[in-house]
Amino acid sequence: MISMNVEIDSNSDLVIGADIGGSNIRVALVDSSGNLLVRKKIDNKPSLGIEIAGEKISQLALEVSKNKAIKGMGFSSAGPINQLTGEYLNPPNLSEWNKKSLIPIIRKHTGIESKVGHDATLAALAEINFGKNKGSKNLIYLTISTGVGAGMISNGNMIQGENWFAGEVGHIIVSPGGYGCSLGCPGCLEGNISGTAIASIAKDMITNGHNTEILENNNIEDINSKLVIDFAQKKDKLSEIIINDVLENLGRGLASILATLNPSVIILGGSVAEGLSKFYWNKIIAKTAKYSIPFYKSDPPIQMTTLGEDASILGASIIASS
Ligand SMILES: [Zn+2]
Repeated sequence: MISMNVEIDSNSDLVIGADIGGSNIRVALVDSSGNLLVRKKIDNKPSLGIEIAGEKISQLALEVSKNKAIKGMGFSSAGPINQLTGEYLNPPNLSEWNKKSLIPIIRKHTGIESKVGHDATLAALAEINFGKNKGSKNLIYLTISTGVGAGMISNGNMIQGENWFAGEVGHIIVSPGGYGCSLGCPGCLEGNISGTAIASIAKDMITNGHNTEILENNNIEDINSKLVIDFAQKKDKLSEIIINDVLENLGRGLASILATLNPSVIILGGSVAEGLSKFYWNKIIAKTAKYSIPFYKSDPPIQMTTLGEDASILGASIIASS
């Protein structure tokens, strides 16, 4: 690629926001009201190395900001990640990038000194700046997709932790004796409700002799969480058992998070949350109430995100000029 410097102007209303995920990279030109004016999206192949990804991000940053001055650039990333240096710390979905940082690569190609944040934390930041709960000082964003993680804002501050992995609520124990996640904590939330978990529980139960209508038109290796949620809707017995357990464990997790951090609201995002919320919203609330302390029992404050997949990129735009 041709490296060139992006023009920086501290009075500009525009910033570059980016989101780095295990499977794709999104870069956008964002204004201070949270409008994504230009968007670009490409596949990420982490195994090709962080240099290649950094080049692609730089290229897209140059494209979205063409002929414009920007105030700064921020990017959100799957973690764990040192949010000052950008150094990755054994990231499960970007394992080849361990101990490396995108910041010097982006600087080399564009001249921009970019800021970085953890994706769920930045999604929480976006919710209190641009979401329905704008102005909240105590908000949790819980993402349920391939994995489970949270971004936490307490008294207006992002909670990050000693080693940058605060918010790993996917590993609170909700089902002793239940399934475990890939990190080896048996009975954790992620091991029992993530998309990965829902698919692997279904496969495990089928291998152990359970029948399911899913297999009438699908192979066992093609089973994913969406199929299980869809078939639970169609009263497939196996899928119903799994989704009932998911809702029970999700209720335990949400009640535990409410009691621990006393947020004004927990915002749910991610593909599994989207799928479950369509059919089982009342059950999510009822199960959370079941396990909640009295303060939250009558009306647990749980909502779906209204920012969709833009949440973390919007959060990145907020830290861009910090
Ligand atoms: Zn775990």
